[in-house]
Amino acid sequence: MKMSNLYMPTLRQVPAEAEIPSHQLLLRAGMIRKLVSGVYSYLPLGYRSIRKIENIVREEMDKKGAQELLMSAIQPRELWEASGRWDNFGPEMFKLKDRNDREFCLGPTHEEYFTNLIKDEVNSYKQLPLIIYQIQTKYRDEKRPRFGVIRAREFIMKDAYSFDVDEESMKLSYQKMWDAYDAIFTRLKLNYKVVQGDTGAMGGKISHEFMAMSDVGEGRIAYCKDCDYAATDEKADVVIKVENNEPMMEIEKVYTPDIRTIDELTEFLNIDKNRFGKAIIYKASGKPIVVLIPGHRELNETKLINYLKIAEHELEMADENTIREISLADKGFTGPIGIKDARIIVDKRITFMRNIVVGANETNYHLRNVNYGRDFEAEVVEDLLLVEEGDICPKCGSKLYIDRGIEVGNIFQLGTKYSKSLNATFLDENGKEREFVMGSYGVGVSRSLAAIVEQYHDEKGIVWPFVVAPYHVIITIINTKKEEQYALGQKLYDELTKKGIEVLLDDRNESAGVKFNDRDLIGIPVRITVGKFANEGIVEFSLRKSNEKEDLKAEEVYDRIITAFKEEGFEQ
Ligand code: ATP
Ligand code: MG
Repeated sequence: MKMSNLYMPTLRQVPAEAEIPSHQLLLRAGMIRKLVSGVYSYLPLGYRSIRKIENIVREEMDKKGAQELLMSAIQPRELWEASGRWDNFGPEMFKLKDRNDREFCLGPTHEEYFTNLIKDEVNSYKQLPLIIYQIQTKYRDEKRPRFGVIRAREFIMKDAYSFDVDEESMKLSYQKMWDAYDAIFTRLKLNYKVVQGDTGAMGGKISHEFMAMSDVGEGRIAYCKDCDYAATDEKADVVIKVENNEPMMEIEKVYTPDIRTIDELTEFLNIDKNRFGKAIIYKASGKPIVVLIPGHRELNETKLINYLKIAEHELEMADENTIREISLADKGFTGPIGIKDARIIVDKRITFMRNIVVGANETNYHLRNVNYGRDFEAEVVEDLLLVEEGDICPKCGSKLYIDRGIEVGNIFQLGTKYSKSLNATFLDENGKEREFVMGSYGVGVSRSLAAIVEQYHDEKGIVWPFVVAPYHVIITIINTKKEEQYALGQKLYDELTKKGIEVLLDDRNESAGVKFNDRDLIGIPVRITVGKFANEGIVEFSLRKSNEKEDLKAEEVYDRIITAFKEEGFEQ
């Protein structure tokens, strides 16, 4: 491709809303453009990289015997009613009506649709196992679209679904997909971790997430260095000891004027945070609940949502009026004793704590020496806490570390949730009707593009690995007006292109500085500069990632490129 013809609208300034490097660089490099919040177009360079990611995904899925198809983005309401997810997905689902008032959604995912398809077409165990997938556009009206294509409202996903005769066989399909994902993310050169995930609204029990490690990742991962335990913070079990054998003391009411938070109380009463019972007040499906956890820890809302068996969007913080209604006090003074008309839910650890400080349900007062069992009772949940660095590994007892990551893929063991609700059955060997045992498997194709940029960039721009680079090589002609430079650049371009190398020729009538800045910004891995030694047939060769320059004869360039491919383990 000659850059004099290339549609590559680079930007000097990026909008302030682009907070992270991948968002800024993909915009600046003219690879993506925003239409409205969370909705992006892929411009020529960006789309070349997207297609490369798609192809890698496709190849690895096909190797495992998965078959590609393409389904519609539009799905009728009835399908989603049957699984119970029409309401469950809540405001994240884009809904629409046709001219006859029939309701549809733009598919945020396709479990229902695939199950429905298979239900009518696959009747016998002989047709199983089956894994089918598509690479398609998904729609989710995200609460907080951000970070460009990382959390978009329209994005490209590879979604696969497996259908098996039983659990055991489904686990084999699951493992196949796990292996395919390992191959995909390894080929994409991502530094990633596989971690246990929460199954949440998807249903099923076991899931794993593939996290591209990055400080800007929205996902927090707890992992152990001494064993293979790794889980998202939503999922990670918290093991802490709070037992103490102090004798229970008399309850005391203490005056705490305008002292509301645990931090303020710690200072005011000069008591450690772990001596408090922290009350958090929510509305769950419109009804107030008070959750009490140890004062020095944070609540894990996902664990609470799972316990309550509600959808994520049904949990909201209680407003001040609700707080006043149930506790007869202002915000900041809620406690478990004397609450009216609200469920009280405690983390198990509260039941082992002695003589804790809690809100008195009276403005400006707290209670000291409160004890579970003697002074109040509640629904007890084994673990409602958010994991923290330094917590004990639930598997080996060693120490847990926390890192951040971008979820680029996940795999779920769904069991029969969808086959049951959609009545999807087959006949087994004995002619008995059984429900398909399913799995579902997603890769964020467009999100992966951004995750790669997060891991491969420097202060000048993107530093693409060969596998996803929009082009492998950029030939920069320093001065296009110089006949010999132009001719040599053109000749090299023709030769390399003929040999199957993807080459950009910067033949634009711009200054060398502009050209150098652009090539570094768009991150093409091999840089060939045709300049003052063109008349001797000599060009400068360098790699974007190392910046070391070599002078080469034009005839040597092809071999040097192939060596660079090999060094990176890249096969064309
Ligand atoms: P998240 O926790 O980030 O919201 P999710 O659990 O909702 O992700 P899935 O429903 O499992 O995601 O979707 C499969 C894959 O699609 C994810 O692993 C992710 O890579 C990608 N993905 C999900 N939501 C988005 C989005 N809003 N924008 C871009 N990619 C997304
Ligand atoms: Mg999501």
